[in-house]
Amino acid sequence: MSQPLVGMDLADLREALGPSQPRYRAQQLYEAIYRGEASDFVQISTLPARMREDLAARHVLGLPEIARRYESLDGTRRYLLRLDDGRTVETVLMPEGERDTICISSQVGCPVDCKFCMTALLGLERSLTAGEIVGQVLLVARDIRLKKDRGLRREGGRLNIVMMGQGEPLLNLENVVKATGILLDPGGFGLSPRRITVSTAGIVPKIEELGREPVRPKLAISLNASTEESRRELMPITRKYHLTDLMAACRAYPLRPWEKLTFEYVLLKGVNDTDADARRVVKLLANLNCKVNLIALNPGPGIPYETPDPQRVAAFQEIVRRSMPCFVRKPRGLDIFAACGQLKRVEG
Ligand code: SAH
Repeated sequence: MSQPLVGMDLADLREALGPSQPRYRAQQLYEAIYRGEASDFVQISTLPARMREDLAARHVLGLPEIARRYESLDGTRRYLLRLDDGRTVETVLMPEGERDTICISSQVGCPVDCKFCMTALLGLERSLTAGEIVGQVLLVARDIRLKKDRGLRREGGRLNIVMMGQGEPLLNLENVVKATGILLDPGGFGLSPRRITVSTAGIVPKIEELGREPVRPKLAISLNASTEESRRELMPITRKYHLTDLMAACRAYPLRPWEKLTFEYVLLKGVNDTDADARRVVKLLANLNCKVNLIALNPGPGIPYETPDPQRVAAFQEIVRRSMPCFVRKPRGLDIFAACGQLKRVEG
Protein backbone atom coordinates (compact mmCIF):
# COMPACT_ATOMS: atom_id res chain seq x y z
CA MET A 1 0.00 0.00 0.00
CA SER A 2 1.12 3.57 -0.65
CA GLN A 3 2.55 5.20 2.42
CA PRO A 4 1.24 8.63 3.44
CA LEU A 5 3.77 11.48 3.56
CA VAL A 6 1.75 13.69 5.92
CA GLY A 7 2.86 12.76 9.42
CA MET A 8 6.47 12.13 8.42
CA ASP A 9 9.11 14.26 10.09
CA LEU A 10 12.33 15.30 8.41
CA ALA A 11 14.14 12.09 9.36
CA ASP A 12 11.31 9.96 7.96
CA LEU A 13 11.37 11.91 4.71
CA ARG A 14 15.13 11.48 4.34
CA GLU A 15 14.59 7.77 4.66
CA ALA A 16 11.71 7.82 2.21
CA LEU A 17 13.85 9.58 -0.40
CA GLY A 18 16.74 7.22 0.10
CA PRO A 19 20.44 7.77 0.84
CA SER A 20 21.32 8.77 -2.73
CA GLN A 21 19.39 12.03 -2.47
CA PRO A 22 21.04 15.17 -1.07
CA ARG A 23 19.67 16.23 2.34
CA TYR A 24 18.18 19.46 1.09
CA ARG A 25 15.67 17.49 -0.99
CA ALA A 26 14.06 16.11 2.15
CA GLN A 27 13.94 19.65 3.52
CA GLN A 28 12.22 20.89 0.35
CA LEU A 29 9.67 18.11 0.52
CA TYR A 30 9.08 18.77 4.23
CA GLU A 31 8.44 22.46 3.61
CA ALA A 32 6.19 21.74 0.68
CA ILE A 33 4.06 19.35 2.74
CA TYR A 34 3.68 21.47 5.87
CA ARG A 35 4.04 25.03 4.63
CA GLY A 36 3.22 24.88 0.99
CA GLU A 37 0.12 25.14 -1.03
CA ALA A 38 0.40 21.77 -2.73
CA SER A 39 -2.69 19.68 -2.28
CA ASP A 40 -0.92 16.97 -4.22
CA PHE A 41 2.84 16.43 -3.98
CA VAL A 42 3.06 15.78 -7.67
CA GLN A 43 2.66 19.57 -7.95
CA ILE A 44 5.70 20.28 -5.78
CA SER A 45 7.64 22.25 -8.32
CA THR A 46 10.84 22.55 -6.29
CA LEU A 47 11.49 18.83 -6.78
CA PRO A 48 12.72 17.31 -10.06
CA ALA A 49 10.02 15.56 -12.09
CA ARG A 50 11.78 12.22 -11.82
CA MET A 51 11.81 12.37 -8.03
CA ARG A 52 8.13 13.25 -7.95
CA GLU A 53 7.33 10.24 -10.09
CA ASP A 54 9.37 7.96 -7.84
CA LEU A 55 7.58 9.33 -4.81
CA ALA A 56 4.19 8.94 -6.41
CA ALA A 57 4.90 5.29 -7.06
CA ARG A 58 5.38 4.60 -3.38
CA HIS A 59 3.52 7.32 -1.50
CA VAL A 60 0.37 9.36 -1.27
CA LEU A 61 0.13 12.76 0.39
CA GLY A 62 -2.40 11.17 2.71
CA LEU A 63 -4.78 13.88 3.88
CA PRO A 64 -8.11 12.67 5.23
CA GLU A 65 -11.13 13.30 3.04
CA ILE A 66 -13.84 15.76 4.08
CA ALA A 67 -16.92 13.54 4.11
CA ARG A 68 -19.26 16.30 5.32
CA ARG A 69 -19.12 19.85 6.55
CA TYR A 70 -21.72 21.18 9.00
CA GLU A 71 -22.02 24.91 9.43
CA SER A 72 -23.43 26.45 12.62
CA LEU A 73 -25.41 29.68 12.86
CA ASP A 74 -22.54 31.05 15.00
CA GLY A 75 -19.96 30.38 12.27
CA THR A 76 -18.54 27.20 13.83
CA ARG A 77 -17.84 24.45 11.34
CA ARG A 78 -17.79 20.75 12.12
CA TYR A 79 -15.95 18.49 9.69
CA LEU A 80 -16.66 14.83 9.43
CA LEU A 81 -13.43 13.37 8.09
CA ARG A 82 -13.06 10.00 6.45
CA LEU A 83 -9.81 8.19 7.18
CA ASP A 84 -7.93 5.66 5.12
CA ASP A 85 -9.72 2.68 6.63
CA GLY A 86 -13.17 4.18 6.11
CA ARG A 87 -13.62 5.23 9.74
CA THR A 88 -14.72 8.77 10.45
CA VAL A 89 -13.62 11.33 13.02
CA GLU A 90 -14.46 14.98 13.71
CA THR A 91 -12.62 18.28 13.66
CA VAL A 92 -14.17 21.62 14.61
CA LEU A 93 -13.27 25.11 13.39
CA MET A 94 -14.27 28.04 15.60
CA PRO A 95 -13.68 31.39 13.93
CA GLU A 96 -13.57 34.34 16.31
CA GLY A 97 -12.67 37.75 15.00
CA GLU A 98 -9.17 37.67 13.62
CA ARG A 99 -8.36 34.35 15.25
CA ASP A 100 -9.40 30.84 14.32
CA THR A 101 -9.34 27.92 16.72
CA ILE A 102 -9.24 24.38 15.38
CA CYS A 103 -10.30 21.62 17.74
CA ILE A 104 -8.74 18.34 16.64
CA SER A 105 -9.20 14.70 17.64
CA SER A 106 -6.53 12.30 18.84
CA GLN A 107 -8.46 9.03 18.61
CA VAL A 108 -11.55 7.64 16.87
CA GLY A 109 -14.00 7.48 19.78
CA CYS A 110 -12.61 7.53 23.32
CA PRO A 111 -11.82 4.93 25.99
CA VAL A 112 -12.18 7.26 29.00
CA ASP A 113 -15.92 6.89 29.62
CA CYS A 114 -16.78 10.24 31.25
CA LYS A 115 -20.46 10.11 32.17
CA PHE A 116 -21.30 13.56 30.75
CA CYS A 117 -19.58 13.18 27.38
CA MET A 118 -21.17 11.89 24.21
CA THR A 119 -17.89 10.74 22.69
CA ALA A 120 -17.67 8.19 25.52
CA LEU A 121 -20.74 6.48 24.08
CA LEU A 122 -18.70 5.52 21.01
CA GLY A 123 -16.06 3.64 22.97
CA LEU A 124 -12.56 3.53 21.51
CA GLU A 125 -12.29 2.45 17.90
CA ARG A 126 -8.60 3.22 17.42
CA SER A 127 -5.89 5.81 17.93
CA LEU A 128 -5.08 8.26 15.16
CA THR A 129 -1.68 8.21 13.46
CA ALA A 130 0.56 11.28 13.65
CA GLY A 131 -0.37 11.93 10.03
CA GLU A 132 -4.08 11.85 10.76
CA ILE A 133 -3.58 14.33 13.60
CA VAL A 134 -1.48 16.78 11.55
CA GLY A 135 -3.75 16.15 8.55
CA GLN A 136 -6.76 17.60 10.38
CA VAL A 137 -4.90 20.89 10.84
CA LEU A 138 -3.62 21.04 7.26
CA LEU A 139 -7.03 20.25 5.87
CA VAL A 140 -8.91 22.86 7.88
CA ALA A 141 -6.18 25.47 7.38
CA ARG A 142 -6.51 24.92 3.64
CA ASP A 143 -10.26 25.12 3.84
CA ILE A 144 -10.03 28.51 5.60
CA ARG A 145 -7.51 29.71 3.06
CA LEU A 146 -9.76 28.74 0.19
CA LYS A 147 -12.58 30.71 1.76
CA LYS A 148 -10.51 33.75 2.57
CA ASP A 149 -8.03 33.57 -0.26
CA ARG A 150 -5.03 33.82 2.02
CA GLY A 151 -1.73 31.97 2.10
CA LEU A 152 -1.36 28.96 4.35
CA ARG A 153 1.74 30.43 5.92
CA ARG A 154 -0.05 33.59 6.98
CA GLU A 155 -2.87 31.45 8.30
CA GLY A 156 -0.39 29.69 10.62
CA GLY A 157 0.17 32.90 12.58
CA ARG A 158 -3.47 33.32 13.47
CA LEU A 159 -4.36 29.79 14.41
CA ASN A 160 -4.97 28.24 17.79
CA ILE A 161 -5.05 24.48 18.00
CA VAL A 162 -6.72 22.63 20.84
CA MET A 163 -6.61 18.87 21.08
CA MET A 164 -10.01 18.60 22.71
CA GLY A 165 -11.92 16.63 20.11
CA GLN A 166 -12.56 12.90 20.19
CA GLY A 167 -10.18 10.79 22.22
CA GLU A 168 -7.73 10.99 25.10
CA PRO A 169 -4.49 12.44 23.69
CA LEU A 170 -2.28 11.12 26.47
CA LEU A 171 -3.36 7.56 25.67
CA ASN A 172 -1.90 8.17 22.21
CA LEU A 173 1.10 10.11 23.44
CA GLU A 174 3.70 8.95 20.96
CA ASN A 175 1.68 10.03 17.92
CA VAL A 176 0.50 13.20 19.65
CA VAL A 177 4.09 14.22 20.42
CA LYS A 178 5.20 13.48 16.87
CA ALA A 179 2.28 15.41 15.38
CA THR A 180 2.67 18.41 17.68
CA GLY A 181 6.43 18.34 17.03
CA ILE A 182 5.75 18.85 13.31
CA LEU A 183 3.15 21.57 14.01
CA LEU A 184 5.57 23.35 16.37
CA ASP A 185 8.66 23.03 14.16
CA PRO A 186 9.66 26.46 12.85
CA GLY A 187 10.83 24.65 9.70
CA GLY A 188 7.53 22.77 9.50
CA PHE A 189 4.07 24.17 10.16
CA GLY A 190 5.64 26.77 12.43
CA LEU A 191 3.04 27.14 15.16
CA SER A 192 4.05 28.85 18.41
CA PRO A 193 3.91 26.57 21.49
CA ARG A 194 1.61 29.15 23.07
CA ARG A 195 -0.97 28.36 20.45
CA ILE A 196 -1.46 24.66 20.89
CA THR A 197 -3.05 22.96 23.90
CA VAL A 198 -3.54 19.29 24.61
CA SER A 199 -6.28 18.37 27.07
CA THR A 200 -6.23 15.27 29.27
CA ALA A 201 -8.69 13.53 31.55
CA GLY A 202 -5.71 13.00 33.88
CA ILE A 203 -3.49 10.08 32.83
CA VAL A 204 -0.92 10.72 35.56
CA PRO A 205 2.17 8.83 34.29
CA LYS A 206 1.67 10.30 30.83
CA ILE A 207 1.51 13.83 32.23
CA GLU A 208 4.94 13.20 33.71
CA GLU A 209 6.14 11.81 30.38
CA LEU A 210 4.85 14.82 28.44
CA GLY A 211 6.61 17.13 30.87
CA ARG A 212 9.92 15.55 29.89
CA GLU A 213 9.46 16.32 26.19
CA PRO A 214 11.69 19.20 25.08
CA VAL A 215 9.15 20.33 22.47
CA ARG A 216 5.58 20.18 23.67
CA PRO A 217 2.20 21.86 23.57
CA LYS A 218 0.51 23.49 26.56
CA LEU A 219 -1.42 21.25 28.90
CA ALA A 220 -5.04 21.41 30.03
CA ILE A 221 -6.50 19.10 32.64
CA SER A 222 -10.17 18.15 32.78
CA LEU A 223 -10.83 18.41 36.51
CA ASN A 224 -14.64 18.33 36.45
CA ALA A 225 -15.13 17.54 40.15
CA SER A 226 -13.99 18.90 43.47
CA THR A 227 -13.70 15.67 45.45
CA GLU A 228 -12.13 12.29 44.79
CA GLU A 229 -15.50 10.64 45.27
CA SER A 230 -17.46 12.74 42.83
CA ARG A 231 -14.66 12.62 40.27
CA ARG A 232 -14.60 8.86 40.50
CA GLU A 233 -18.28 8.76 39.71
CA LEU A 234 -18.17 11.20 36.79
CA MET A 235 -14.84 10.08 35.37
CA PRO A 236 -14.25 6.38 36.08
CA ILE A 237 -10.63 6.75 34.90
CA THR A 238 -10.00 8.31 38.30
CA ARG A 239 -10.27 4.88 39.91
CA LYS A 240 -6.91 4.21 38.31
CA TYR A 241 -5.42 7.71 38.50
CA HIS A 242 -6.44 9.26 41.80
CA LEU A 243 -7.16 12.94 42.17
CA THR A 244 -4.41 13.34 44.78
CA ASP A 245 -1.85 11.82 42.40
CA LEU A 246 -3.14 14.00 39.59
CA MET A 247 -2.70 17.13 41.68
CA ALA A 248 0.80 16.00 42.69
CA ALA A 249 1.70 15.53 39.00
CA CYS A 250 0.33 19.01 38.24
CA ARG A 251 2.43 20.54 40.99
CA ALA A 252 5.54 18.80 39.70
CA TYR A 253 4.83 19.70 36.06
CA PRO A 254 7.72 21.72 34.59
CA LEU A 255 5.98 24.85 33.27
CA ARG A 256 7.88 27.13 30.93
CA PRO A 257 8.29 30.75 32.10
CA TRP A 258 5.33 32.00 30.04
CA GLU A 259 3.10 29.02 30.71
CA LYS A 260 0.11 28.30 32.95
CA LEU A 261 -1.79 25.06 33.40
CA THR A 262 -5.44 25.19 32.36
CA PHE A 263 -8.09 23.35 34.34
CA GLU A 264 -11.41 22.61 32.67
CA TYR A 265 -14.50 22.09 34.77
CA VAL A 266 -17.82 20.96 33.29
CA LEU A 267 -20.67 22.26 35.45
CA LEU A 268 -23.50 19.76 35.99
CA LYS A 269 -26.66 21.06 37.63
CA GLY A 270 -26.96 19.96 41.25
CA VAL A 271 -23.99 17.59 40.91
CA ASN A 272 -20.74 19.59 41.03
CA ASP A 273 -21.87 23.22 40.79
CA THR A 274 -22.36 24.39 44.40
CA ASP A 275 -20.51 27.17 46.20
CA ALA A 276 -18.86 24.49 48.31
CA ASP A 277 -17.59 22.81 45.11
CA ALA A 278 -16.17 26.13 43.93
CA ARG A 279 -14.37 26.63 47.25
CA ARG A 280 -12.94 23.12 47.09
CA VAL A 281 -11.70 23.78 43.53
CA VAL A 282 -9.89 26.88 44.82
CA LYS A 283 -8.32 24.82 47.58
CA LEU A 284 -7.26 22.03 45.22
CA LEU A 285 -5.59 24.49 42.86
CA ALA A 286 -4.07 26.74 45.50
CA ASN A 287 -0.51 27.82 44.69
CA LEU A 288 -0.63 26.39 41.19
CA ASN A 289 0.19 28.67 38.30
CA CYS A 290 -3.08 28.08 36.50
CA LYS A 291 -6.36 29.30 35.11
CA VAL A 292 -9.78 27.70 35.17
CA ASN A 293 -12.20 27.32 32.25
CA LEU A 294 -15.77 26.59 33.27
CA ILE A 295 -18.02 24.85 30.75
CA ALA A 296 -21.74 24.61 31.45
CA LEU A 297 -22.82 21.15 30.34
CA ASN A 298 -23.70 20.81 26.69
CA PRO A 299 -26.58 18.38 26.87
CA GLY A 300 -27.16 15.51 24.49
CA PRO A 301 -29.07 12.29 24.04
CA GLY A 302 -27.91 9.63 26.49
CA ILE A 303 -26.41 12.15 28.92
CA PRO A 304 -28.11 11.94 32.33
CA TYR A 305 -27.27 15.48 33.49
CA GLU A 306 -28.65 18.99 33.14
CA THR A 307 -27.13 22.36 32.43
CA PRO A 308 -26.98 24.72 35.42
CA ASP A 309 -28.68 28.14 35.21
CA PRO A 310 -26.48 31.02 34.11
CA GLN A 311 -26.75 32.59 37.61
CA ARG A 312 -25.31 29.43 39.18
CA VAL A 313 -22.47 29.42 36.65
CA ALA A 314 -21.77 33.09 37.41
CA ALA A 315 -21.78 32.49 41.18
CA PHE A 316 -19.35 29.59 40.79
CA GLN A 317 -17.08 31.69 38.60
CA GLU A 318 -17.14 34.56 41.07
CA ILE A 319 -15.86 32.38 43.91
CA VAL A 320 -13.02 30.90 41.85
CA ARG A 321 -12.13 34.25 40.29
CA ARG A 322 -11.26 35.73 43.66
CA SER A 323 -8.26 33.39 43.75
CA MET A 324 -7.25 32.74 40.14
CA PRO A 325 -8.20 33.63 36.56
CA CYS A 326 -11.49 31.90 35.77
CA PHE A 327 -13.44 32.07 32.52
CA VAL A 328 -16.73 30.68 31.32
CA ARG A 329 -16.36 29.02 27.95
CA LYS A 330 -18.99 30.04 25.48
CA PRO A 331 -20.57 27.04 23.79
CA ARG A 332 -19.87 26.96 20.07
CA GLY A 333 -21.75 25.09 17.38
CA LEU A 334 -24.41 23.61 19.67
CA ASP A 335 -26.89 23.47 16.78
CA ILE A 336 -24.60 21.19 14.75
CA PHE A 337 -23.36 19.00 17.64
CA ALA A 338 -19.93 20.58 17.50
CA ALA A 339 -19.62 21.79 21.11
CA CYS A 340 -17.50 20.23 23.90
CA GLY A 341 -18.62 16.72 24.67
CA GLN A 342 -20.90 16.48 21.64
CA LEU A 343 -18.57 14.89 19.11
CA LYS A 344 -20.28 11.70 18.25
CA ARG A 345 -20.51 11.87 14.48
CA VAL A 346 -24.24 12.56 14.60
CA GLU A 347 -25.94 13.93 11.55
CA GLY A 348 -27.45 17.38 11.72
N1 SAH B 1 -10.08 13.37 26.76
C1 SAH B 1 -9.54 14.69 26.87
C2 SAH B 1 -9.81 15.50 25.62
C3 SAH B 1 -11.28 15.85 25.39
S1 SAH B 1 -11.46 17.49 25.85
C4 SAH B 1 -10.04 15.35 28.14
O1 SAH B 1 -10.84 14.75 28.84
O2 SAH B 1 -9.59 16.43 28.48
C5 SAH B 1 -13.12 17.64 25.99
C6 SAH B 1 -13.49 18.65 27.07
O3 SAH B 1 -14.89 18.80 27.02
C7 SAH B 1 -13.13 18.12 28.45
O4 SAH B 1 -12.65 19.16 29.26
C8 SAH B 1 -14.46 17.63 28.97
O5 SAH B 1 -14.51 17.71 30.37
C9 SAH B 1 -15.44 18.56 28.29
N2 SAH B 1 -16.75 17.96 28.09
C10 SAH B 1 -17.04 16.68 27.87
N3 SAH B 1 -18.36 16.49 27.73
C11 SAH B 1 -18.94 17.70 27.87
C12 SAH B 1 -20.28 18.16 27.81
N4 SAH B 1 -21.30 17.34 27.59
N5 SAH B 1 -20.50 19.47 27.99
C13 SAH B 1 -19.48 20.33 28.20
N6 SAH B 1 -18.18 19.94 28.24
C14 SAH B 1 -17.92 18.64 28.10
